[in-house]
Formats: sequence, C-alpha cells, structure tokens
Amino acid sequence: MSNKERIVVIGGGFAGINFIKKLDKKRFDVLLVDKNNYHSFPPLFYQIASSGLDPGSISFPFRREMRKGSVKGARYNMGDVKTIDVANKTITTQFETIEYDKLVIAAGTTNNFFGMTDLYKRVFTLKSTPEAIRCRNEILDRLERASLCKDEKQRRRILSFVVIGGGPTGVEIAGAIGEMKRYILHREYPNITTDDLNITLIEGTDRLLRTMSETASREALEYLGHLMVNVKLQKTMKSYENNVVTFADGEQLYSEMVIWTAGVTGEPMEIIGTDFQRGPGNRFIVDEYNRVKGLNEVYALGDISLMMCDAYPKGHPQLAQVAIQQAKLLAKHLNKNEFKTTFKYVDKGSMATVGRNRAVADLKHIHLYGRPAWLTWMFVHLISILGMRNKISVLMNWIWAYCTYSTSLRLLIHSNKYPLRSRWGEKE
Ligand SMILES: Cc1cc2nc3c(=O)[nH]c(=O)nc-3n(C[C@H](O)[C@H](O)[C@H](O)COP(=O)(O)OP(=O)(O)OC[C@H]3O[C@@H](n4cnc5c(N)ncnc54)[C@H](O)[C@@H]3O)c2cc1C
Repeated sequence: MSNKERIVVIGGGFAGINFIKKLDKKRFDVLLVDKNNYHSFPPLFYQIASSGLDPGSISFPFRREMRKGSVKGARYNMGDVKTIDVANKTITTQFETIEYDKLVIAAGTTNNFFGMTDLYKRVFTLKSTPEAIRCRNEILDRLERASLCKDEKQRRRILSFVVIGGGPTGVEIAGAIGEMKRYILHREYPNITTDDLNITLIEGTDRLLRTMSETASREALEYLGHLMVNVKLQKTMKSYENNVVTFADGEQLYSEMVIWTAGVTGEPMEIIGTDFQRGPGNRFIVDEYNRVKGLNEVYALGDISLMMCDAYPKGHPQLAQVAIQQAKLLAKHLNKNEFKTTFKYVDKGSMATVGRNRAVADLKHIHLYGRPAWLTWMFVHLISILGMRNKISVLMNWIWAYCTYSTSLRLLIHSNKYPLRSRWGEKE
C-alpha cells in the first residue's frame, strides 16, 4: 500500500501505455489492468493473419516493459474489467475488485456486427492477436485441404474468400491474400491454380479507403486488381448463412471464409452506481481534456473516447495517433494537476499498404504511392513498434520475405485443450 494517489488504467494499448509512460510515477501509484498480459500492435494484425509475421514480434509483455524505461514504477494486474462502480470508485474483473482515486479508461474497441446476431460465430475477425492467429490457421488449413482435393469445384469452394469492409484493414488483408495467390501458390502449393483461389473485397460506399484521398482510393483499387482481388463497391452485406453472403440488393455470393472488418464499437463494460449513458459507438463522451462527461475523476482515452469539437463534430478518427496524443496530454495535465491546454489533434497523415512495393500514403503536404509509400509505411510502423527486439525481428522478417517471398511462418499449429486421441484426418 502507498500513500500516493492511485490511478488505475484500463487497457495497455496505444493510449494506456503512452499515458503511463508520461505519468509521474513518483507522484502516482499506477496500476494497469489489461485482459492480456501484453501490449499489441493492431496495424500489423493482418500480417499475422497472412503468415507474414509471428505474433511474438508485434506483442510486448507488460511485465518486461515495467522493469525498465519510462513505464518503470507502474504495476500490472491481469483482468478483464466487467464493471465500473463509480459510486464506490472501484472496478471489478473476473479475479478481483480494485479501488481507484482516478480511473483512466483506455480499453479500445471490439467488433461491431451491426445487430447481425450470431454472425460472430461464422466470420473471422482481426481485432486481436488471437483473432489474427485464428484467421491464419483457417487460411493455411484451407490451402492444405484444397491441395488434397481432386475435385475442381470443391477446391474453389474451399478457397472462396470474402473480405467485408474496404477500410485499411480490409484492403490490407485482401491484398495480403492476393499476394499469396499471385506469388506463393505456384511455389508452395503446386496442386492449386490461381483460378482456384478467389478473393472478393466488399465495400459499402463508392470507394475504398474512404477516410483517405480519392487518389489513394483509386490507386488501392488498381493495386488490388494486380493482385487478382475482385472488388465490389456500394454493396452492403445483409446476412451470411450456409456459406452464402447475401447483399442488400439481393445479390448472393458463395464464400466459405468471410473476414469481417466492417465496424467497431467501444469495449463493453457495465457502469454501476449512476444512470450514466455511453455515447454513439458505445464510446465515452469526453470534454476537450478527456474527462468523461457526467463522471467524477474518470477519464477516457483513444478509441473508446468520443470528443466532439468544431474540427471533428462526430469525434476524432479511431487511430493510433489520436490515442497517443490524447494520452500524452492527459498525463501532462494530471502531473501538473491543472487542465490548461485543450486537445488539438495533429494529423500526421494516413497510409495503407496493399502488398510489396504497393502502398498509398496521404501525408501532410504530399501524397505518395508505390514503392516510396511502401518504404514510408514500413519505416513508420517499425519505429512505432514497442521494443528493440521486436523492431529487429519485424525488420528481419520483412527483408527476408522481400528477397525470397518465403517465410517460415506458414505453420499450421493448432492448440488443443486435451491431448489428441486421433491422428490428423481420422474421425474421433
Ligand atoms: C486490424 C487493425 C488495423 C489498424 N491499423 C491502423 C493503422 O494502420 N493506423 C492507425 O493509426 N490505426 C490503426 N488501427 C487503429 C488503432 O489500432 C487504434 O486506433 C488504437 O489501437 C487505439 O488505441 P487504444 O489504446 O484506444 O486501444 P487499443 O490499442 O485497442 O488497446 C486497448 C487495450 O485494452 C485492453 N482491453 C480491452 N477491453 C478490456 C477490458 N474489458 N478489461 C481490460 N483490458 C481491456 C486490450 O487488451 C488492449 O490492450 C488499426 C486497428 C485494427 C484493429
């Protein structure tokens, strides 16, 4: 126990970890609570899903970070926060109830299926490391099964991929599967032809990457064409049943693997001891200092917060840079115990990659595409990854894959709760 004021931080993502880094640990007793014991790097989840990177190279154990550097002095408890009791100033996880003086909610978002109940059981998603690994295993499993399948029609069914959502994640995962189709199949899966594997990317609006410039959208579309990805614009998925995707206009598409990247909503957590309501997108409405409106000594940062201002009347984009900048400013205010500077988002630009040498970047004063954009994308992501070991590991993987198109990561390693009784292919 310490006499210092206790700040509990829910979530050690971009917002949580950067907040803790800047917070004065001599002044505050800081406890990070996260359901995972590692910090992850969502922008590269699609590379795990497509066997480009191993999960360890973009994950960073909190306990290692807390031994040293700017996070030293903070503590970590594993826990999935289920309730926040604002009257008693406590949070409760599946393991314990924790008291706080100040609470910082930085728990990010989860998948949004827009009311399509049960959809989560049938689609694949990319919102966390386990989800990306699950996606990778399914793709590899399908490639192996298709290799053994003599029937052409059946092979095509096994390899019918649909990606829903033409934002950066959808474009990136569709591009990565397109690269597999174009460059990997003939090397490693000689029984499968490029015609066997079908990828369709679905976007509801009239262009891909709608948060970027129209030029970037056009270029992304062109790059995906090179990688043999079909793109359907202005299509909204209505349902996905029995391997058939049905669109709002009645069109149907057969797909055995649907990857859902179409929407997010704030992480659910029950707030008790008040009649407080969360805002649109299940986000916490905050003032220009990230103080949650209607709650005392509670702050929200990053994706789960919603700050409406003149420049962003519907709130800021849910991006890493917003989370990091908000986190640093809130730490500064709490350190000084005064709220002076209102939050102003400095947009450093946005980018997306569609494969090797194919990327688009809308930077502050310049638009880049092709190799320069791709190199910029790699540089920006490399410097943002936590830990030198991880940076080196990612860089080595990328260099190796660039030179050889080869990776040792196309490993199909399933974990089982119990030891297997049967051998692969046999019925239990
Ligand atoms: C696939 C993908 C690709 C992306 N690509 C980009 C990109 O290229 N550029 C970009 O700027 N942004 C990108 N984003 C968005 C970016 O990742 C987010 O804006 C950023 O992560 C937000 O940071 P955060 O700290 O608010 O949330 P997160 O980084 O999501 O962190 C939330 C943390 O809270 C923890 N948590 C969640 N719920 C609980 C709970 N109930 N109890 C305890 N802990 C909990 C989680 O384990 C996690 O550690 C991408 C997102 C995804 C999913």
